[in-house]
Amino acid sequence: MKLNELTIKEAVEGLKGKKFSSVEITQACLDQIEKHNSEINAFIAVNEHALDEARRADEIRESDSNSPLLGVPIALKDIYMTKGLRTTAASKVLENYIPQYDATVVRKLKDAGAVILGKLNHDAWAHGASGENSDFGPTKNPWNTDYVPGGSSSGSAAAVALNMTIAASGTDTGGSIRQPASFTNTVGLKPTYGLVSRYGIIAMASSLDSIGHLTKTVEDCAIYLNVTAGNDPMDATITKNRIPNYLEDLNKGVGGIKIGMPKEYLGSGLDPRIKENIEKVIKKFGELGAEMVEISLPHTEYGLACYYIIQPAEVSSNLARYDGIRYGYDRSYFGDEAVRRIILGTFTLSSGYYEAYYKKAMQVRTLIRQDFEKAFEKVDAIISPVSPTPPWKLGEKVDDPLKMYLSDAYTVIANLAGIPGLAVPSGFIQHQTFGAGFIGDLPRSDRGLPTGFQILGPQFSEKLLFRIGHAFEQTQERRICEI
Ligand code: GLN
Repeated sequence: MKLNELTIKEAVEGLKGKKFSSVEITQACLDQIEKHNSEINAFIAVNEHALDEARRADEIRESDSNSPLLGVPIALKDIYMTKGLRTTAASKVLENYIPQYDATVVRKLKDAGAVILGKLNHDAWAHGASGENSDFGPTKNPWNTDYVPGGSSSGSAAAVALNMTIAASGTDTGGSIRQPASFTNTVGLKPTYGLVSRYGIIAMASSLDSIGHLTKTVEDCAIYLNVTAGNDPMDATITKNRIPNYLEDLNKGVGGIKIGMPKEYLGSGLDPRIKENIEKVIKKFGELGAEMVEISLPHTEYGLACYYIIQPAEVSSNLARYDGIRYGYDRSYFGDEAVRRIILGTFTLSSGYYEAYYKKAMQVRTLIRQDFEKAFEKVDAIISPVSPTPPWKLGEKVDDPLKMYLSDAYTVIANLAGIPGLAVPSGFIQHQTFGAGFIGDLPRSDRGLPTGFQILGPQFSEKLLFRIGHAFEQTQERRICEI
């Protein structure tokens, strides 16, 4: 296996055992970026100091073997503040913005010894589900470059899938980690609201924003969260709970665990191929010893409407600070999608409409949260599709915002309820029909597109989600994306 293809776990073990150096593994990632970024467009910028950071990690290795990510290359969605390294939110408004400080998560990653490879592309301001809203051009799905990699954390997903980095960070306000993860055969965690600090992450919708990760395995996600979770005096919404070791229960299996399957999630609008895939997942969990239970989340159908009122309202407020006076260019640089959300949000917050829209949506949000509270009295966790459809072709939905919004139907609910969601790969879906034959005989572009499912749990149940996700992952073969 090539060094850039390693997981965090394998990289950490190899570095500790001095099988290779951080310089070597960082160079392998940089080579892969160099080779493919012009086509995939996952990175907006490569950190020119990455090799120096790797060299420093190799020196530190001589006297320190405790830093959990020492020498491991990772990359960040370009919405994370990085001191001295341009941060654009994938928007022309911040094209030349160089932050004065690191986001808390970036500081924690650096303290843990990680090497920052660079900044990843995404839909501008994290508005989108395909990566096509970026002012730096769309990211392509490395499994088939005619297709979108999902969004908004498009570059994070594509970079991890194509082994341009060992792992990546993203943000999830309504699905932007889980959906691109499921489109690229990677693992994506949206943690509980308030588990990972939002300080220094460019805000989209502050009551929904969750800071999470995209990795090659569930175990890697747990290792990553061990570094980033909890404790930040700079974020007033951060939990005061004791942070557990997320690796602790990983291998305990799912015997006796009750997993709910909401009946509302298998209704109309679900692509039959996704339905078939999730049915296979349910069957597999049954075989692994979990108890599968049908449940009801009765307010599911209002989720999208509720999200697309609350989220633009908060977006309009957060984007008000880009006035072109303190930093960034003026408001004429905003793209169409940001303008659409600013107008929508300003409208629903305006006097006379506030009660009818925003306040109503907040009440429905409470009902959605209560749906989950009731469900978690009966089951330990819930599984559901991530996206109602497989990845779509570039350009297919970009001119139809409503169609694009519909793709968020299964993901926004977790953000409204503030609960965690873990997207786990569950195989490949054929987007064309073929005769008999081995998948390996097919041209690369015909080998199907990835899909995944999500595991939802009560607030702060990440340890359980990793345990369930890991048990499933053990039944699947890891497939390396080659281009
Ligand atoms: N697709 C959703 C939106 O456009 C989610 C975005 C996100 O999670 N950042 O609002």
